[in-house]
Amino acid sequence: MKKHLRESSSASSGSSKYQCSMCPHQFSQRSHLNQHMKTVHAGIRPYSCPVPECPKAFGKRSDLKSHVSSVHDNERPFECEFCDRKFAKKSNLSRHREKLHRDKLER
Ligand SMILES: [Zn+2]
Ligand SMILES: [Zn+2]
Ligand SMILES: [Zn+2]
Repeated sequence: MKKHLRESSSASSGSSKYQCSMCPHQFSQRSHLNQHMKTVHAGIRPYSCPVPECPKAFGKRSDLKSHVSSVHDNERPFECEFCDRKFAKKSNLSRHREKLHRDKLER
């Protein structure tokens, strides 16, 4: 007597991620992975965005830089005045400053 195995290969679950086979990038949409593979690993645009969910890639390093600063830096508006670190939450910045720059913080 055999047990019936339920096939759970339905692609409609939506929560599954598409992992790039050549780098740690993951994408929630298959089209993003395809775009990423075509542009990044085909060598057309070797500078891929370091943000894991972002499928963008660029042929020039300067283009990548401006993309990151214009798109993703908005997600981390709290910048440390002692170093170049940026944070999404003000509490994270305060914690960072107290940890790393305590001697510079004037009381
Ligand atoms: Zn990749
Ligand atoms: Zn990006
Ligand atoms: Zn800092």
